Amino acid sequence: MPKHMACREQGMDCDFEITDEHEAEMVDFIQIHARSQHDMSVSEDEARDMMETT
Ligand SMILES: [Zn+2]
Repeated sequence: MPKHMACREQGMDCDFEITDEHEAEMVDFIQIHARSQHDMSVSEDEARDMMETT
């Protein structure tokens, strides 16, 4: 099952969203995006918590 994460669903005013079959890959994308666009440090657990199964 692919996972989905959207910044807007996390309460952020941002159009970033991602859908990916590979959770580990998605954690990387979320961490990179959070750091570069939101100046936020997101742990692996936090990134996983943001994901929803589509
Ligand atoms: Zn964002």
